[in-house]
This record gives sequence, C-alpha cells and structure tokens, in this order.
Amino acid sequence: MKDRYSTRLDRRTMLALFGSGSAAALAGCLGGDDGAETTTPAGTETTSDEVPDAYRTATALNGNERDPGSLVAKSDLSYQPEPKNGQQCSGCAYYVPDKNDDGVGACTIVEGTIEPTGYCTSYVAHEDETSSGDNQARSPTDVPQDAQCAVCNMKAANFPTWNAQAVHADDTREFFCTSGCATTYYAVPGEFADTDADIAGLWVRDMESRDLVDGTTAYYALETDADRLDDPMRVNPAPFAAREDAVAYVDEVEYLTEDDIVELAAFDRELAEQYRGQLLE
Ligand code: SF4
Repeated sequence: MKDRYSTRLDRRTMLALFGSGSAAALAGCLGGDDGAETTTPAGTETTSDEVPDAYRTATALNGNERDPGSLVAKSDLSYQPEPKNGQQCSGCAYYVPDKNDDGVGACTIVEGTIEPTGYCTSYVAHEDETSSGDNQARSPTDVPQDAQCAVCNMKAANFPTWNAQAVHADDTREFFCTSGCATTYYAVPGEFADTDADIAGLWVRDMESRDLVDGTTAYYALETDADRLDDPMRVNPAPFAAREDAVAYVDEVEYLTEDDIVELAAFDRELAEQYRGQLLE
C-alpha cells in the first residue's frame, strides 16, 4: 500500500537493504530503550547517563526536550571538559543549564552531566535572541536566482520545495539544493565552506509544509528511498519541525523506525557519506 509521501514504493526491499547498515550503526550509537544504560561492544552493560531527575527530560537552550533514550556517549563526540577555540557547552544550543546549583548541567545530545566549560564535536552556537543585535543575519532569506548549492553546485532556486540555507557567525551565507546537501555541509564544513566561522543558523524545508524551518531544532527522518519523495540528488534526510510529524513519516513505511529520527548534531561523516558520498573527498 502506498503512503501519502510515496511515488514508487516497489523498490522498498532494495532500499531497505541499502539503508540497513548505517541505520543500525546509528541506532547503536543512540543507545537502548531507556537511555540509562549502554551496552559495550563486549556486551558489558554500564550505567552512563547518571544525571539528577531534574535533567532527565529537561529543556535545552534551543527549546528541545532531553530524551534519555536518544543520547550519545561522551567518547563518541570527543567530549572534553575544557572549551575549544572559544566554544563551550554553556553557549551551545543543546546545553541544559545548571538546575541544582552544583555548577554542571546536561545536554540533549550527550549523556551524563556536562560541564558548562565543556565542548564536543556536535557544538552548535546558541542564538540568544535577547542579545542578538542582527536578527536579519540569523534568519533565512530569499534564495538568489543564481545561488549555487555549496555542496553540489546546482542552482538552489530551482528546488523551491527542497532548498536550504545556512549562515555562519561571520555572516557568510550559503544555499543548498536539498536537506542532504545542507546536512552534509554541516557534517563536514571543512570540505565545502569558505570560512572557518561557526555555523550560526541553518534552515531546511519541512517535508509536511515545505516551509523553511530551523534546521538546528528540526527532526530528520533518515530516508533511504529516493523515490518516496521524488528527491533531487537521489536521496535526502526528511526534515520536520515537529517530532510527531517525523514519527508519522517513519510509521508509514516498514523500513524506517523511530530510531531513524535524528537531530542535526547526529549528522557526521558517516551520514554525509550515505547521502553525498560521491561529492566527498
Ligand atoms: S552538544 Fe556537545 S558542546 Fe553542545 S552542550 Fe552537548 S556536550 Fe556541550
């Protein structure tokens, strides 16, 4: 039976096979059902998400709720208790500030307590609207007709229901034809960006409304079937502003589960290879 997103679903079996390796690997990274325990490769269970109850489902600076079942080990993201290049957890969109005056907080990406002075490779600068003096630079703009995708060089304006964009802290703005190119750029900016400045904002098309939505707080269904959405560039992660829309999306097919719904911070080189491997060095 076709779902409402599908154009051709007769290739499901082949595409499920194509996506199974990376999806399983990602699900493994995201941990078990309750998030309180992880299983080592040797099968030894260790309790690692030890946080006071006040943090278990607390809200991060970006407004996202912490899910104890979807956290990553500190070592997976090279977490360190010290800042790096002036970036630290207290300024990260995923940080949950101190709630009990013990000087540490938590995170909606990484398990356990988190030092405000810490840092990991999923750092995304939090845009503090009360202190921002340049909201225009932190908002999406119209896509210039001649803007080329920063990853694949196609004209972003040719894909009005798919294109995306990002802005760096130095106001360098880039456009993308699709969510797949945008998330690849986020995962490996060193291969495509003309600036070393942090990515300060990223917007993608919600697959429900096709409006541009905040990509740093969106939920991405790791689609593997290029025909389901008639994707440009063959296949793309499917972004949704609301988690319930992402859940409804994966529920409509057999080859995706809620384990295949991730946030922007989950996009790493492995996923970049899955979606745009042909464009990476
Ligand atoms: S994602 Fe990384 S940098 Fe951001 S708050 Fe969590 S641990 Fe810190």
